[in-house]
Amino acid sequence: MRIPGTGNLYRVGRRIRKRFGPKVLILLYHRVAGLKLDPQLLAVTPEHFAEHLEILSRYSHPMSLQRLMAALRNGCLPRRAVVVTFDDGYADNLSCAKPLLERYDIPATAFVTTGYIGSKREFWWDELERLILEPGRLPEMLCLNINGSVRQWALGEASHYSEASYRQHLRWNVEQKHDPCPRQHLYRSLCPLLGPLSEAERRSVLDELLAWTGAELMNRPTHRTLTPNEVIRLADGNLVEIGSHTVTHPVLSRMPTATQRTEIRQSKARLEEILGREVSIFAYPYGTHADYTEETAGIVREAGFMSACSNFPGLVQNGVNPYELPRYLVRNWSGEQFAHRLREWLRN
Ligand SMILES: [Zn+2]
Repeated sequence: MRIPGTGNLYRVGRRIRKRFGPKVLILLYHRVAGLKLDPQLLAVTPEHFAEHLEILSRYSHPMSLQRLMAALRNGCLPRRAVVVTFDDGYADNLSCAKPLLERYDIPATAFVTTGYIGSKREFWWDELERLILEPGRLPEMLCLNINGSVRQWALGEASHYSEASYRQHLRWNVEQKHDPCPRQHLYRSLCPLLGPLSEAERRSVLDELLAWTGAELMNRPTHRTLTPNEVIRLADGNLVEIGSHTVTHPVLSRMPTATQRTEIRQSKARLEEILGREVSIFAYPYGTHADYTEETAGIVREAGFMSACSNFPGLVQNGVNPYELPRYLVRNWSGEQFAHRLREWLRN
């Protein structure tokens, strides 16, 4: 059924859209790696990343975040511009992503969590994955004291997790609605409990968990973060700019003002100490509207950052708040799937 007048409305809408002028798309990646298990869907394989870059170089105008900020200040955003960003500071940003960025001459920004630079421990979500989703035997009952409240889980038959079960559930991730066995259920229930904790509280829970599993503390080569020297090498050549992603990757909105200030200021100072140059861009950990507040954005601005990236979808256009830049999260899509998404996003 056609509502009278909608055709005309559509044409007017198109003209309005054109008048809105150019918009910029910021892409959010985390890792470029081929992982066996990726329950948070953070990794894009090198093959797929190369396909994404091929498409970007053909059909868009890749630019750096610094250039985007300059264009925003001058009120002259280029058409179909795309900015590539990485969050967290995994070592594969240097070993896998940078060579591909160089091959296509596409600039990028890497937001680094400074407390994890050269860390002997993995990010908490990776540690959790290693302890719970790897094959082997675990005690049947888990009892944890999380922030003053005691929680219990029963693994039942899944206390023994065979190689065969592990292989069967390799593609499981938190976006799936169903948990195939209690191991996945435990992993999923611990994530929202650990995420909002302070670093000290989280460490204490992870240490308790580590003792419960009887596993050794380790930093897998596949999950390690950048070392100070690797941060320098990543920034070397000026194709990749470095931004801050706090010290310990907290949910800033859940932290007292003083902690937020320390996290934001110290991460900037640490990166500037390593790089010997100013660091003026920031990305909020987790980055949705619930993960930071107006106060957080104010602290970021006062600390001397020129802009901050969030993690909610949208295009950047003139008049955007530079301390709340929207980004589109990229998954491990094939080139074709990526091109399809890109077309959709740029059409908005
Ligand atoms: Zn992050």
